[in-house]
Amino acid sequence: MSLIVMKFGGSSVGTPERMKRVAQRIVDRKREGHQCVVVVSAMGDTTDDLIDLSKQICDVAPPAREMDMLLTTGEQVSVALLSMAIHSLGESAMSYTGWQTGIYTEAVHSKARISRIEPHRVLAALESGNVVIVAGFQGMTEGGEITTLGRGGSDTTAVAVAAAIKADLCEIYTDVDGVYSTDPRIVKCARKLNEISYDEMLELANLGAAVLHPRAVECAKHNQVRLVVRSSFNNNEGTHVKEEAAMEQGIVVRGIAYDKNVARISLLGVPEKPGQLAKVFTALAKEQIDVDIIVQGGVQDLADFSFTVGSDDLEKAMAIIESIKPVIEYKQVTSQTGLLKVSIVGAGMVSNPGVAAKMFEAISDLGISINMVSTSEIKISCVIVNERLNEVIQALHTAYGLDTDSTAFVGGPQDRR
Ligand code: ADP
Ligand code: ASP
Ligand code: MG
Repeated sequence: MSLIVMKFGGSSVGTPERMKRVAQRIVDRKREGHQCVVVVSAMGDTTDDLIDLSKQICDVAPPAREMDMLLTTGEQVSVALLSMAIHSLGESAMSYTGWQTGIYTEAVHSKARISRIEPHRVLAALESGNVVIVAGFQGMTEGGEITTLGRGGSDTTAVAVAAAIKADLCEIYTDVDGVYSTDPRIVKCARKLNEISYDEMLELANLGAAVLHPRAVECAKHNQVRLVVRSSFNNNEGTHVKEEAAMEQGIVVRGIAYDKNVARISLLGVPEKPGQLAKVFTALAKEQIDVDIIVQGGVQDLADFSFTVGSDDLEKAMAIIESIKPVIEYKQVTSQTGLLKVSIVGAGMVSNPGVAAKMFEAISDLGISINMVSTSEIKISCVIVNERLNEVIQALHTAYGLDTDSTAFVGGPQDRR
């Protein structure tokens, strides 16, 4: 008998029929003799719908605390319904919110990190023979405030719970067959990967591959959780995320990711003196704004620097930059939205010269100019204007020899509803 954490995303439980099918799958797993802890997301587009609802109530950004209170209701609906569906199939199940599960987070709203998990209730309910159903994406601060873990955060709940209860396996069930060389909805001849290393998966996730939440991968690596991504719609073998993964001969790029929500802020004419960059980025970090690519240039004693933030953070970031103008004494600030970051990832890149050149060439062959570049040992990212996403990703996929002959989906992509 093994202890398994099974996580089902929003599209996998998007309708009552899908919910019932998932319940059957869980019951089958239990009847194979496993103990099952299930983590589930809000049904279908519920989280987006709740966000839209808040926009109809508030003209300005609503208080983050209340937003978390609202968004956590989505997962709460799912756990109760899934538990009922399992009961209807003749097995006992108990549903729990994040805070009942003992998931403690730092005191930050909308993208809190899990600080610790006290899983006694989960373990006791399992011992009594229940399937345990945990609401994804939510936790509680030490002070008893409800928090959320950031969009896509149910994956992180699953992996963190798996680590806390020392599960033998964590299965992430989603609407594609596993991790592909790129988003299979964009490139039809994307290849499904049988395995991928934690490090490569972490880069892809951080760079926008929605299939796994970055912190889920981080947590899996840290705790050496056995992680598999697979489809909730079929029984195909999924993708194993592990410490080291074999690379096919002749292939140096494992995958291509993209992020459509990129905005650039440029500070022009910044007087050169020590500590300027530190002041800007400390002010942004205090407000939980993640800064990504940073480029610095300039002439004589005046520097220019540009950096990217998520489009959703642009307004808040610009307000902060305005507020520190008297301290930094920059001459001008500009911003640009509608940018796209495309990235290639592969552990083998570091020892292969010419990988970057090929990327720049593939993009420039499309007549597109590159605005910003950032590199690490295992990735290269380019920021460009977001106009021809599909073409760019397809061109890179072909350039690095990743295309397969067949289409990614046997039966065509699953309907997202
Ligand atoms: P869930 O609701 O199950 O959490 P998500 O929508 O968060 O599902 O993640 C699955 C989606 O991730 C897929 O439908 C696919 O479009 C997208 N995706 C992006 N990059 C990749 C990739 N490299 N491999 C597989 N899927 C990817
Ligand atoms: N429901 C949340 C979201 O849509 C969390 C998740 O699905 O993982 O982002
Ligand atoms: Mg997800």
